[in-house]
Amino acid sequence: MRLCVWDNQDASVFAWSFELETDHKPLTFLFSENKGINTNASSCVQRWALMLSSYNYTIRYRPGTGNCGDALSRLPVPFTDCNNTPQPADLVLVIYVFESNNSPVTAAQVRFWSNRDPVLSAVKHCVMTGDWSCILDSEEYKPYLCCRDELSVQSECLLWGRRVIMPKQGREKLVSELHSTHPGSVTMKAIARSHVWWPGIDSELESCVHRCDTCMQLSKSPAESPLSLWSWPFKPWSRIHVDFAGLFFGKMFLVVIDAFSKCIECSIMSTSTSAATIENLRVMFTTHGLDDVLVSDNGSCFTCQEFQEFMRLNGIKHVRSAPFKLASNGQVDRAVQIIKQGLRRVTQGALQTCLSRVLLGYRSRPHTVTGVSPAKLLMKRELKTRLSLVHPDISEAVDNKRQGQKYDHDCMVALHDFAVNDPVYVLNHGLGVKWLPGVFTSKEGTRVFCVKLKDGHTLRKRG
Ligand SMILES: [Zn+2]
Repeated sequence: MRLCVWDNQDASVFAWSFELETDHKPLTFLFSENKGINTNASSCVQRWALMLSSYNYTIRYRPGTGNCGDALSRLPVPFTDCNNTPQPADLVLVIYVFESNNSPVTAAQVRFWSNRDPVLSAVKHCVMTGDWSCILDSEEYKPYLCCRDELSVQSECLLWGRRVIMPKQGREKLVSELHSTHPGSVTMKAIARSHVWWPGIDSELESCVHRCDTCMQLSKSPAESPLSLWSWPFKPWSRIHVDFAGLFFGKMFLVVIDAFSKCIECSIMSTSTSAATIENLRVMFTTHGLDDVLVSDNGSCFTCQEFQEFMRLNGIKHVRSAPFKLASNGQVDRAVQIIKQGLRRVTQGALQTCLSRVLLGYRSRPHTVTGVSPAKLLMKRELKTRLSLVHPDISEAVDNKRQGQKYDHDCMVALHDFAVNDPVYVLNHGLGVKWLPGVFTSKEGTRVFCVKLKDGHTLRKRG
């Protein structure tokens, strides 16, 4: 990268103002008169920017063919064969002063190593001369060719931007230094990006972390295998998930959730023995029938022989979640949370009363997963609650029903209108036949009828 200033008229123009033309477009941004000095630029570029800041100028881009200042850079330069880059003579019996393992890597070391490294010394030469034509087209030079416009040399050290290009001899020590507090590879890369670079640094940093025994011992457990999601059953009460909640308020709660409808059943229990569990499940089965699959954890009351026999005799497939994989029975865990949270909020009345109110509220409101109330999915009808009374359609329906019942009753009463001497039967509440034959004689008020039986007795009966 060369900076050429050319003025056709008079050098004294620098005291006033001048126009700076360059055929290197990035310089128009780096040395822009309206911008501050880029702190990320290499130190030599920063020095140039500092020098130019003393002048009043306007910088603009002009292609090399039309830039007369470029003539300087087109002057022939003596050919330098990179293969003949002077190599240091082999040194014998020289005390190598940079061998201490604990000492940090210094610029003096980098300079020393850079001058001895054939690749880095060749690249340095190209950077200083600006002639990259002599560089060998081999793999080891490619990383430097890619960024050659951003390379610079400072104090005989090769820099890429602000980063020192570390010779091979110092790389291992630098990696150890970066990993001194055992950061992860991402952090190490971030730190290294501010200081050093060499081809393949990222993979070397990753390898360092993978090889570090301390990091391996302290690393998190590998990600768990994805949970096998239960499929949604096709019908209600086909698969139920069972677990215990508690002790809670001094009691155990047997919590059962239907995987299809998400309807929760819950029983308050004094103990969580298998016998008590079976009895409570039996009560639930009287309402909903037997299920096809029952999912539980590995609690002793579920794994014992008695419970297994209960499952077998009722034709229920018992599935137990994997040990230490509580999430595999997550549906009932959620149900347990719903019961616990509900009982913490609903506190008026006895525990069973509170539980009933919690369950009614849960079953009658739309479920977040299905969008339908559990009761609707389980029983194909919505539960009537106190809130249902606010709906006018239900009030009217109830009202109409009551009106209809009154009409039917009135009709029946109207039928009980007899003429004198009509044959009738009277219901006998005593011994003998159930209905006694007789004739209607009179009516007292609107609802009491007098009947004369065949044996001469007269009965007064309410119609
Ligand atoms: Zn480590």
